[in-house]
Amino acid sequence: MKRPAPPIRDDAASGTRSAPPDGLPPLRSVIEDHELAAKRSLGQNFLLDLNITRKIARALGDMRGRTVVEVGPGPGGLTRALFIEGAERVVAVERDARCASALNQIADLYPGRLDAHFADALEADWRALIRATQGPVSIAANLPYNVATQLLVGWLETEPWPPWYDRMVLMFQREVAERIVAVPGSKAYGRLSVLSQWRTRARIIMHLPAEAFTPPPKVASAVVEFVPIPLPQPACNVKTLARVTAAAFGQRRKMLRQSLKGLVAMPELLLAQAGIAPTERAERLTVEDFARLALILDRGADGA
Ligand code: SAM
Repeated sequence: MKRPAPPIRDDAASGTRSAPPDGLPPLRSVIEDHELAAKRSLGQNFLLDLNITRKIARALGDMRGRTVVEVGPGPGGLTRALFIEGAERVVAVERDARCASALNQIADLYPGRLDAHFADALEADWRALIRATQGPVSIAANLPYNVATQLLVGWLETEPWPPWYDRMVLMFQREVAERIVAVPGSKAYGRLSVLSQWRTRARIIMHLPAEAFTPPPKVASAVVEFVPIPLPQPACNVKTLARVTAAAFGQRRKMLRQSLKGLVAMPELLLAQAGIAPTERAERLTVEDFARLALILDRGADGA
C-alpha cells in the first residue's frame, strides 16, 4: 500500500501565503466572504490547497481545447485549478445554489468558459450538457461521497460506448477507490471492480489524508484515473454484465452453481459453456470470466 501524502497546508494558512496565480482571493476567504459553511448533508469537504487541485487537474493530461465536466464545484477550488492548468471550458453541476456568487467570480475571470448548472448531478443529462462542445471532454471531480458510486456507475454504464468522455479523474473515499481497482481473490473485489476494469483502465493516482479537506471527513481519500477501453472484451452487454455480477457477488461466499440460480435456471450449464467450474466462487473469477458469462447469456445459450 502506498504511503499517505504528508499533511496538507491550505493556501491561505500556509507558511508561504503565496497568492493564488489566478488573482482571485484564497479559497478560505472565498468561503468566508460568500458564507459557504460546509453542509454535511451535501458531502461538502472542500479542498483549499491549489497545489492539490492543480495536481488533480494535471492528471487530465493535455488541456488544450479540452472541456471538463465537473460535479460539485462548491467554492470552486478544482474549477480554478482546471482553468489555471489550461482547460478551455468547464461545465459544472452543483446542487448548492449558495455557491453561485463564488462561481460567478470565476466565470467573470474566464468569460464564456464556465457553464455552471445548479441541479442534482444524479438527474443530469450529460450529453445534453456538452452538446455544444467541440474538442475532447473529460470528467474531473472531488465527488460528494454519498452519491459518488452512483455517479460512477452511471458514467461507466453509459451507452453508446466508447463514451462521450475520454478520461475521468475522480476523488473517492479510499475504501471505494480500493474496490474499483481490486484484483480477484481480494476482499475488496466486487461488482464495482468488474464494471470499472471491463470498460476502463483504472488506477489510483493519489492518496489524500482526511486533513487535506476542510472540514476533514472521517475517512481517507484517493483519486482514481479511468481511461475508457474503446472495445471492452469479451464484448457483452453492460446491463447483462451488471446482472451477472449482482447475482454472483450478492452471495459471494456461495459456489457459483448456487449463487447464479437467481439468474438462470441451470447455472451448471452456463458455467460449463464458459469453462468455469461450478464450485468456483465469485471473488475468484476474472473480469474476463464475468464478461464471458454475460456474453453467453446475451447469445441466449444459457441453459435457462
Ligand atoms: N469541488 C469542491 C472542492 O473540491 O473543494 C467541493 C467538493 S465537495 C466534496 C462535493 C460538492 O458536491 C459540494 O460542493 C456539494 O454541494 C456538491 N454536491 C453534493 N451532492 C450533489 C449532487 N447530487 N449533485 C451536484 N452536486 C452535489
